[in-house]
Amino acid sequence: MKLYKIKKSKIDNRRGLYASKDIKKGTKIINYIGKIVTNKEVENSSKYDNDKPIYLFTLNSRFTLDGDFHWNTAGLINHSCDNNCDYDGKGFKVWVSAIRNIKKGEELTCDYGFGFDKDYKQFPCKCGAKNCCGYIVREGSRFRINKKFAMGRNKTNK
Ligand SMILES: [Zn+2]
Repeated sequence: MKLYKIKKSKIDNRRGLYASKDIKKGTKIINYIGKIVTNKEVENSSKYDNDKPIYLFTLNSRFTLDGDFHWNTAGLINHSCDNNCDYDGKGFKVWVSAIRNIKKGEELTCDYGFGFDKDYKQFPCKCGAKNCCGYIVREGSRFRINKKFAMGRNKTNK
């Protein structure tokens, strides 16, 4: 049985993935699949201009996984500032794994890991989490938007 189902998301009004049963921390939930391209291709092709970095996953110094395909179900997972899953890469495989216990019916969310740059306002975040910084920016960079995230690492482990 699959650990997820596709449902309309509360976060962005499109689709998202939801836990179809209770999931234990550390469980691999879904394979993030796509096409492997070289980092050079990413640099040189207009397809990879800033509009869709959401689907790019850097595998190593030479290769990137491009998950921008309708058959990549894991690409439906939304970003949250209080994510319950994360991407977990090994070699050329990328999994979405639970980083805490997830209850049946919860939406599965990841940290998209966007860096902070001059374009960050292009990607507003509507995750609704208490610690939402308002934009899709990786946890370690949120303090650049608002000083109160400087201590961000402490948040959920209580
Ligand atoms: Zn947020």
